[in-house]
Amino acid sequence: MPPAATPSASAGAVDPPATAVAPARETDLQKLVNEAHLKFRALTEGANADYIPELARIPSELYGVAIVTVDGRAYVAGDVEYAFSIQSVSKPFTAALVMQQRGAEALQKQIGVEPTGFPFNAIEAIALQPQRSGNPLVNAGAIAAVSMVEAPDAEAKYRLIEGWYGDFAGQKLTMLSEIYKSEAATNRGNRAIAALLAKYGRIYADPVESVDVYTRQCAIGVNARQLAVMGATLANGGVNPLTGKRVLDSTHVPKLLAIMTMAGFYDESGLWAYRAGLPAKTGVGGGIVAVVPGRMAIVGFSPRLNQAGNSIRATRAIEYIAGELGVSVFGAGR
Ligand code: GLN
Repeated sequence: MPPAATPSASAGAVDPPATAVAPARETDLQKLVNEAHLKFRALTEGANADYIPELARIPSELYGVAIVTVDGRAYVAGDVEYAFSIQSVSKPFTAALVMQQRGAEALQKQIGVEPTGFPFNAIEAIALQPQRSGNPLVNAGAIAAVSMVEAPDAEAKYRLIEGWYGDFAGQKLTMLSEIYKSEAATNRGNRAIAALLAKYGRIYADPVESVDVYTRQCAIGVNARQLAVMGATLANGGVNPLTGKRVLDSTHVPKLLAIMTMAGFYDESGLWAYRAGLPAKTGVGGGIVAVVPGRMAIVGFSPRLNQAGNSIRATRAIEYIAGELGVSVFGAGR
């Protein structure tokens, strides 16, 4: 990596040769991950999501923290091998697929990129916003994004999405079928959202089928380590740091990260930008991925959520690491 792209954390210090720097930085990142894991392990605030009945059964104590850097190094602590459902953390990756297939302008025009200020599943937001679907990181926009994915039929569309996520993870990912069945049996709100989008002409395939593919994509299993590789692929400008495969055109990456910064935490996105300053995405499965452009992804996983549907321990862990590293995209403030 060119030295200009990796400024020294200690301003004013003379950079030692890269070979001398690497081990120290590795120790630091592992230490930070360990600290973040230890610091928030005792937090028991919040509760598993239970509107998807199967999610209420996931052990609440699970807690993992992971960093994967753009050169493919992983630093992990805790339950980083447990496969949880990706849920809304899937949304930016499907938005990325739409950008790749149809271009960034199509995503902006046909879905929108404005934060809604409403909860992720708000039906009323559709009636109130001029663009209806808001942005691809709330349910309405995410279902619309699924409807925009080009594939011959619903099955092929799901397979394409699953394979696409696998390219980001550098490993094959598969659906957790109990989670899918549980959500498919109870997702009346999402069906209402799709029907309302259809009323406004803001969904681009069959609404029932689009919700079903969306529900399947949300049930894809991923562990914290894999999710960190997915995020690191975005941090690395769209190239998977483990496989070396270019997944997403680099021109789409800053735009996707902009949406994640504005809307990744739903109606807590402002607070998250204020506290951590990183593009990120949360999911009701308890996973959160944050992206430090050009450097790394930071992931937390823990099932207990706050009112907004954001994992409490994962939020705290990432915020802590980002603060210690001074990697807010708005500057380190020191
Ligand atoms: N599948 C979930 C839903 O549609 C995803 C929500 C989330 O993770 N915030 O409700």
